[in-house]
Amino acid sequence: LIQPKRRPGIYVIHIAAEMAPVAKVGGLGDVLTGLSRSLQRKGHLVEAILPKYDCMDYSRIVNLKELDLELHSTFDGQIHKNKVWCGIVEGLPVYFIEPLHPAKFFWRGQFYSEPDDFRRFTYFCRAAMEFILQSGKRPDIIHSHDWQTAVVAPLYWDIYVPLGLDSARLAFTCHNFEYQGAENSGAIAACGLSARDLMRPDRMQDNSFHNKINLLKGGIVFSNVVTTVSPTYAQEVLRPEGGKGLHGTLGVHSKKFFGVLNGIDEEVWDPSTDVLLDYQYSAEDIDGKFINKQKLRERLGLASQGDDEKRPLVGCVTRLVPQKGVHLIRHSIYRTLEKGGQFILLGSSPVPQIQHEFEDIARQFEKHPQIRLVLKYDEALSHSIYAASDIFVIPSIFEPCGLTQMISMRYGTIPVVRRTGGLADSVFDVDDERNPEEKKNGFVFDDPNEGSLNWGLDRALDYYTQRPEWWQDLVKKAMLMDFTWDASADQYVELYKQVLSKTKV
Ligand code: ADP
Repeated sequence: LIQPKRRPGIYVIHIAAEMAPVAKVGGLGDVLTGLSRSLQRKGHLVEAILPKYDCMDYSRIVNLKELDLELHSTFDGQIHKNKVWCGIVEGLPVYFIEPLHPAKFFWRGQFYSEPDDFRRFTYFCRAAMEFILQSGKRPDIIHSHDWQTAVVAPLYWDIYVPLGLDSARLAFTCHNFEYQGAENSGAIAACGLSARDLMRPDRMQDNSFHNKINLLKGGIVFSNVVTTVSPTYAQEVLRPEGGKGLHGTLGVHSKKFFGVLNGIDEEVWDPSTDVLLDYQYSAEDIDGKFINKQKLRERLGLASQGDDEKRPLVGCVTRLVPQKGVHLIRHSIYRTLEKGGQFILLGSSPVPQIQHEFEDIARQFEKHPQIRLVLKYDEALSHSIYAASDIFVIPSIFEPCGLTQMISMRYGTIPVVRRTGGLADSVFDVDDERNPEEKKNGFVFDDPNEGSLNWGLDRALDYYTQRPEWWQDLVKKAMLMDFTWDASADQYVELYKQVLSKTKV
């Protein structure tokens, strides 16, 4: 008998709004690249489709070329032209869609926070699906991410399967249930879907505002497998406090809903090869960490000589949004100062009120020898902070996965975190006897208040000063922990295989 010829790996196309390092706002960008590279290493074929933003880092795209094809896609009942570009990002083939629509959807100088985001991303998804159809691609899995590309799932079943694009099963990952893409129901018609068909409680009607259509809900309802980014967060969002209105929907679809812990890209985040550091170092030779600390102190004007040399340095790299516990971040600056430590914050906020509040604090400490706030997005500085710090604070109110605790550990910086979501799945308190010895790697506190944070932060600062040898061992241990994508990518492959085996021969 002749066996049908099969490709050895799975063919996955990601459709997403972010991809590190070219278009990154937060963890989603890191995940897209880290997961894809790991899948690629395991022998799968992975491609990505992104909007062609004007504000991307074009220097990180290799061989960017316009494809010789005219992509026509529908929006507001009219046909629009798009250019499609192709390039290589971190070894991965990526297609960039450039709409020639008069609204200039991706020529805004920023990735998100435009008043017409719903229209920008539903336009993009329709064009991305059109591209897959017209280019004759036959992916096994189309994997979309967050509300911006959740509409891919209903578009697939309602429009593209009838047009013959039926090779794929759909995977959807929600990186944060806070952002859902809910809009007046009529808005969905622009990308060609029917509000009348979809405005039902079991489809895309928003669970709280019944006149709204909810894109994230559409991703959950219409995808074959739905994941979120840590096992603990997957449990939290099934409860009313965590699900932001979608816990009921997730409950109905719980059989296809899984929590897979994110990893970090082991090549991007490697202190032994990181060219952005002043000095590379590894768990076998951690002296270089101190050199980075001294250099960064000098660069930012923090005290670094005499008794100051011994001060513990606390770092924090974050988007300044309520989710991250901004009041606790602020408190940790003052607490560190009180306890004789130094603090560096790198963060920026899309919320003007929060940005202004931190600008005031930054001004207050402008020339201070122990505190520095840098209020912008700065990839290179973030690497220096991970390497230079001794302690890293992450007091999140909720945290779907969180990457900064994993990155800091890889750089030998010990995290102080609140027990929530992915932080609870990756940081295990050194003083909690319930944790096996080999897992203990940081400081964990429970409640989102200052007293609870002090319990975590004070111990970290005290142990750093009082138990230097113990601390060195902890640093080495944290650096050697496995937070790579390897195991998590295997879990994605398993889930892909499950949905493919259910529906295909
Ligand atoms: P989220 O996705 O909620 O922002 P994560 O912890 O999952 O949180 O991912 C944050 C990522 O963004 C990390 O790679 C972190 O280093 C990076 N990051 C956050 N803020 C900044 C900043 N101001 N400058 C540089 N990198 C930042």
